[in-house]
Amino acid sequence: MAGKNLLEKVWARHKVRTLPSGQDQLFIGLHLIHEVTSPQAFGMLREKGLTVRYPKRTYATADHIIPTDNVSRPLQDPLAEEMLKALETNTMENGIPYFGPESGKQGVVHVVGPEKGLTQPGMTIACGDSHTATHGAFGSIAFGVGTSQVRDILATQTMAISKPEVRRILVKGKMPEGVGAKDLILAIIGRLGVNGGLGYAYEYAGEAIEALGMEERMTLCNMSIEGGARVGYVNPDATTYEWLKGRPYVADYDSMKKFGEEMKSDSDAGFDDEVVFDAADLKPMVTWGINPGQVVSVDDELPTIESLPAEEKETASRAYDYMGFNPGEKMVGKKIDVVFIGSCTNGRLTDLREAAAIAKGNQVASGVTALVVPGSQEVAVAAEAEGLDAIFTKAGFEWRLAGCSMCLAMNPDKLSGRQLSASTSNRNFIGRQGSPTGRTLLMSPAMAASAAIAGEVVDIRKTGARS
Ligand code: SF4
Repeated sequence: MAGKNLLEKVWARHKVRTLPSGQDQLFIGLHLIHEVTSPQAFGMLREKGLTVRYPKRTYATADHIIPTDNVSRPLQDPLAEEMLKALETNTMENGIPYFGPESGKQGVVHVVGPEKGLTQPGMTIACGDSHTATHGAFGSIAFGVGTSQVRDILATQTMAISKPEVRRILVKGKMPEGVGAKDLILAIIGRLGVNGGLGYAYEYAGEAIEALGMEERMTLCNMSIEGGARVGYVNPDATTYEWLKGRPYVADYDSMKKFGEEMKSDSDAGFDDEVVFDAADLKPMVTWGINPGQVVSVDDELPTIESLPAEEKETASRAYDYMGFNPGEKMVGKKIDVVFIGSCTNGRLTDLREAAAIAKGNQVASGVTALVVPGSQEVAVAAEAEGLDAIFTKAGFEWRLAGCSMCLAMNPDKLSGRQLSASTSNRNFIGRQGSPTGRTLLMSPAMAASAAIAGEVVDIRKTGARS
């Protein structure tokens, strides 16, 4: 009999019962909340006269609406101030730990959870945000939930959910120079499609995955949902345990490690599906369209509509109209207006180091606005201690305060008009960065920083810009 994979083991440990609907009632070990999806959930709780079942398994921070230039209170946007106040009241009334802007611990929820050591192997984790799979980098089963599920978890610490199947994404060999986790996940989504992972959890495995640091594993798992997989995870290993050592919420390192070893996939584990990638084939990737699956390597020609599968033709045609690009063109050389380095995909210290190595001694091209937004206040402090902020500002980048910023533009950081943005975030949907006609190219921090300096998309393998 085949062994078990991590998802099967974690699921079995957290399943309360099978519900009449056929779904499972699953216990959630860690519930992360933020200002956008929690106010209505708390409102529903109040209406029903319920309280938060496990306040000590719930942690809050504020990210989407936080301005990145000035967080003096009251915030200039009255709606943002109202949302922040609601979070403060709800967490205070319910005894929920809150990492607010004044705490020095605030940041994007998927950066804050791991850096505090809240995210640990073998856990079930939920958050009212689609990119919760980020936490799967630690060997947890983590997924984004909607507002009514946030309510259910607040009230019961459980939720109704169907168990996904597991597809192993096996990445063999070593990644070439100039290629990283962002290129890998874009390549995976490009090949399997934005709906290819529907109904699956992705287990990322193989030599190339094992070689990734924790921040890169987070980048990889973060974008699982962009490929349709609500859950993405990497089995815990020495890299995981070492990264978690000494973090504030890792109270018992040995137990954490023991549980991780117990929960990781058995060497003979079975999977419902497997797709194999060869890391040596990977190149720096750039999106050209209006979803993350519309992606090519930087020096490839954009596809003709005829060459695409039937189900992709209509979206591709819309993408060409919207972006103003043509089949047969290459992304290298496209002039850009704005660069955004940050987000829960690429706003961590190693991402900023990667970008700073390129910024050092160079200047942002004339006419380009370039923002560097640390994923959390702790990332900002660590980056400043290394002098990264000084490198960026000297090169003409703007060094901002922690938050989601221009990933979603729920704060004042927005594109205007048809500006073309080189962004390290995770979604290039129409209007995603705040302008209904703005355009987004997703890429790695090294590619984005290089684009800022050149004023256009460059192939970092040729400029030698990557450190
Ligand atoms: S950085 Fe972007 S994707 Fe991540 S939580 Fe914030 S808005 Fe969502």
